[in-house]
Amino acid sequence: MVVCNLNCPSCPFAYICIPMIIGAFIALKRYSGRLQKKRIVSQFSFLFITNTAFIFGSTGLIYTYFYCWESPFALMACPIGVLEHAFADRTWYILVYLVGAIGFASVIFGRAACGWACPIGFLQDLTKGRKIKREMDRKVRYLKYVILALIPPACYITERLAYTEICPIGGLTATVPHLIINPYGYTFTEFFLPKMLITAGFFVLIFLMTRGWCRHLCPVGAMMAPFNKISFLQLNYYEEKCVKCFKCAKICPMQIEMPYKNKSTECIRCGKCVDICPTDALDFNFKWQ
Ligand code: SF4
Ligand code: SF4
Repeated sequence: MVVCNLNCPSCPFAYICIPMIIGAFIALKRYSGRLQKKRIVSQFSFLFITNTAFIFGSTGLIYTYFYCWESPFALMACPIGVLEHAFADRTWYILVYLVGAIGFASVIFGRAACGWACPIGFLQDLTKGRKIKREMDRKVRYLKYVILALIPPACYITERLAYTEICPIGGLTATVPHLIINPYGYTFTEFFLPKMLITAGFFVLIFLMTRGWCRHLCPVGAMMAPFNKISFLQLNYYEEKCVKCFKCAKICPMQIEMPYKNKSTECIRCGKCVDICPTDALDFNFKWQ
C-alpha cells in the first residue's frame, strides 16, 4: 500500500501528485458552472486512472486520448504509439484494436475525451492561453490532420517510431518523469535534445493559445474530430431560445463560431457554452434519448 510520508524528492509518485495538487488550486478558481464542476472531477479521475500501473500493471488496453505508454505508471497504450508500431513493424492486426478503441469511444462521445478525460487537455485548461485571429486559426487547424497523415508513411519508411522520437507529449509524460525518478539510469539518444526543444515549444504554445495543442497539432484529436458529426452525444442549439448575446462564442476554448457551428469537428464537448448560456439555448443529449 502506498502511504505518503511527505518526502517528495524521493517519491516516484511526486510527478503525479504535485501537479494534481497545483492543478486543484488553479482549477477551483477557474471552473465555474454545473458541467464544469463535473468536468473537473472527471479530469482528475482520468489523470489518476491513467497513471495506475503501480496498482493494476500495464493492461495492454489503449487510451482514447494522448498519453505516453513509456510514462512510469502508464496503465494503457498510446493510440499514436499503436499506429506507429503497426506501420514500423508491419503488425497490421493491431490496427484493429486501435480502430476499435478510438472508434467505439468516438462514435458514442465524439471528441469528448479531449474535454473530459485527456490529461493534456486538462493541462491546457489550467494554462488557459489566449485566442488568436480567426482566419489564422481556421487555416492552422488542418495541421493536425497533416501530422496524422504523415505518421504512417514516416514509420513505414524509417521502420522506427518516427513520431515518438520527437513527441512533446512523450517528452512531458515519459522523458521528464524518468529523468526525475532515475536520472542516472536514463538512456540518452540523439533525439533527446530535439524532443526537449519541441516539448518546450509545446509549453510556449499552450501558454500563448487556448487549447493550442488540441486545436492545431494533436494527432489523436485529428483521429476523433470527424466523429463529432455522427456521434450519439451531440451539442444541440435551439435558435428560438437564443437572444444572440454570443457569450457562448466568447467562452469557447476551441474558438468555434458558436452558436451556429454547434456540430463543429473542433468541439471537445467541454460544456462551457452550455453553462454560460443565459437562456438554455444550448444543451447536450444522446441521439437515442
Ligand atoms: S450564449 Fe446562448 S443565448 Fe447567447 S448567443 Fe449563445 S446560444 Fe444564444
Ligand atoms: S462549442 Fe461549447 S462544448 Fe464545444 S468546445 Fe466550445 S465551449 Fe466547449
